[in-house]
Amino acid sequence: MYASNVEECANENIVPVSTFTYRQMFVNDFNFGFGPPKTDTCAVCDVGSNEEHVAKYKKAFDVQKSNRENAKANEKIIYLTFDLQKTLPLPKISTSKAFYVRQVWLYNLGIYLISTQQNGKGFFHVWTEDQGSCGPEEIGSSLMAFLENTKDQAIAPDHLIAWSDSAGGQNKKNYIVCLWHYLINSGVFRKIDHTFPEVGHTFMDSDRDFAAVEKSIRKHQSIYTID
Ligand SMILES: [Zn+2]
Repeated sequence: MYASNVEECANENIVPVSTFTYRQMFVNDFNFGFGPPKTDTCAVCDVGSNEEHVAKYKKAFDVQKSNRENAKANEKIIYLTFDLQKTLPLPKISTSKAFYVRQVWLYNLGIYLISTQQNGKGFFHVWTEDQGSCGPEEIGSSLMAFLENTKDQAIAPDHLIAWSDSAGGQNKKNYIVCLWHYLINSGVFRKIDHTFPEVGHTFMDSDRDFAAVEKSIRKHQSIYTID
């Protein structure tokens, strides 16, 4: 950039500044960031800065962090996030023709658990579209199955802290509220908090697990079965 500035100055008969001054001005007066193009950006942030929005998502990050710490320290609390992975096509075939052929969607609900016994562990609930859709009933069934399986191992936690994004068709539904009611009424938990972070800034702990799956998928030319 400095070289092209020197060239530009020569064309205009201007004496260029030194590299030191150029760098000082560039860093202090402009301070541009560099990086690869971003994906999955937030619609609100893309429009411009919005203080209330920024304050809300930062607050959510802080609360989520302290929830994790509490679950690690207090045996009465379990923390979990649940999130549906981006649907994956099955089979994955390199033949170009496969691109035009209808494939079966594979769904995966990732649940990430933190408790005094489980210091952060990801679990997957996997099914194909012939077995079920990806609505609140399937999300609820997965959560039920998961909690029933983990109940035996846990020292009777009485407070469930759940985080999910507010996907209207799946997580923020009456079905899920009914499931929480059921778990309270049947004595599994005494208290359940379900928090939805600010839209556009939802980080669920399973995202890291999903990234590992997607990285691993890229290494295989063909995948035929769930296993
Ligand atoms: Zn935003």
